[in-house]
Amino acid sequence: MKRRQRRIKTKLAVIGAGLSGFSAAIFALKRGIKTTLLGHTGALAYTTGYLDLLGARRGRLLDDPWAGLAALREDEPEHPLARLGNDEIKDAFACFTAALRDMGIGYSMPGALNRMVLLPAGIRKPTLCVPDTMLAGMEAADRRAKTLILDFAGLAGFSAAEFKANFLTTWPAITVQKIQFPGMEHGQVFPEVMARALEVPSLYAELARRISPRLDGARYVGLPAILGMHAPDEVHAAMERLLGLPVFEIPTIPPAVPGIRLRELFERALPETGLELEPQLKVQRADLRPDGITLYLHGPMEDLEVESEAVILASGRFLSGGLKAGHETLSEPLLGLPLYQPGARKDWYRREYLDRRGHRINRAGVKTDTDLRPLGGDGAPVNTRLFAAGSLLAHQDWVRQRCGTGLAIATALRAVKSAQAILS
Ligand SMILES: Cc1cc2nc3c(=O)[nH]c(=O)nc-3n(C[C@H](O)[C@H](O)[C@H](O)COP(=O)(O)OP(=O)(O)OC[C@H]3O[C@@H](n4cnc5c(N)ncnc54)[C@H](O)[C@@H]3O)c2cc1C
Repeated sequence: MKRRQRRIKTKLAVIGAGLSGFSAAIFALKRGIKTTLLGHTGALAYTTGYLDLLGARRGRLLDDPWAGLAALREDEPEHPLARLGNDEIKDAFACFTAALRDMGIGYSMPGALNRMVLLPAGIRKPTLCVPDTMLAGMEAADRRAKTLILDFAGLAGFSAAEFKANFLTTWPAITVQKIQFPGMEHGQVFPEVMARALEVPSLYAELARRISPRLDGARYVGLPAILGMHAPDEVHAAMERLLGLPVFEIPTIPPAVPGIRLRELFERALPETGLELEPQLKVQRADLRPDGITLYLHGPMEDLEVESEAVILASGRFLSGGLKAGHETLSEPLLGLPLYQPGARKDWYRREYLDRRGHRINRAGVKTDTDLRPLGGDGAPVNTRLFAAGSLLAHQDWVRQRCGTGLAIATALRAVKSAQAILS
């Protein structure tokens, strides 16, 4: 069969369909910029759904992420978040959460303090914005309220008993029950399949019927994040109505439903607002010129050429293929951008996995100027039309600093503003 050849022209091409790429698309479309998003999804399906800004500093959890950012500017002035102002970061969160709500998934707006959310292992962590379906869990934990935590026969990756055991001293009023998921009574069950099944009203009604006799005076009900894929707020509201109690979701281990929800929401809703999305093809090569950038994409059946006035590279880290580790050095495989990285392989990791200083490899990445233009070996921008955003940036350790989403969306906003400034 003959390969299909296509050629498209756009104003802004975004490489990478992760949190950073999708948020760049949201910010660009809001500014009326014709935008094309290229690439498979990567780490998005792994997230808990919580949107972290800055949850830890020097190994300690942070109540106030905004004060934490001020301290970060003193300690780590090259950190990508330290180079942005609090107002710009707040704008990014406010615009992103408002867009999520408009597209159909409710999230809390960014506040003055971090919120202590629940994790599947029965611990809490600080984050900034929380899906509406998870809000009541914080309230239940803060009040130490009598709460029924459910898990399901055949479900790996979430254990109500473990959740209870780890909260034993701080939240003793937890009771647990294992029930069978309607229609999936035999063998292993999977959160993604359960979530899709629960979009059917007769199924969530049956689930509520199975939960009701087990409440035993509970004031709240918590269960793994399975309450629908495309309309979680509706399924959540229906369960609260049927049970007559606040209900909350707890994220499961990755890949988890809250991340898949976001990915499917973006893929469904953003093309309706004008995004040109090319989710099946990977960018293989780029031609960077002073007057524009051409991207070359190849799939099994077709080739695509994208002619763009500006490009944002949001291709992630090692898991997503945005960075690559060789025997001795790290590289950025698409454009060959020079990286900030440890001098030798022996310096990538520290001896102790949990060393509080973190591993140097985690701070490796693409160096940029304050407009987020990647820098070449000579310290000058590689191309005035090329920008970078998200976890591939250097001088940050998003895992330890708990700043995954903050880094992804705040740098996406800065990259979009910088790109807009050079568009004709
Ligand atoms: C297990 C886990 C749990 C997490 N939990 C949280 C959490 O609770 N809270 C939080 O705030 N953050 C969390 N995060 C972090 C958050 O998911 C990441 O910070 C965020 O996904 C990084 O976004 P990104 O867009 O920079 O990169 P990615 O999400 O990695 O996306 C990069 C994209 O680029 C694509 N790509 C790469 N190369 C090419 C190419 N050549 N052409 C086209 N496309 C390409 C990849 O396929 C991928 O889709 C978690 C991450 C993981 C892995």
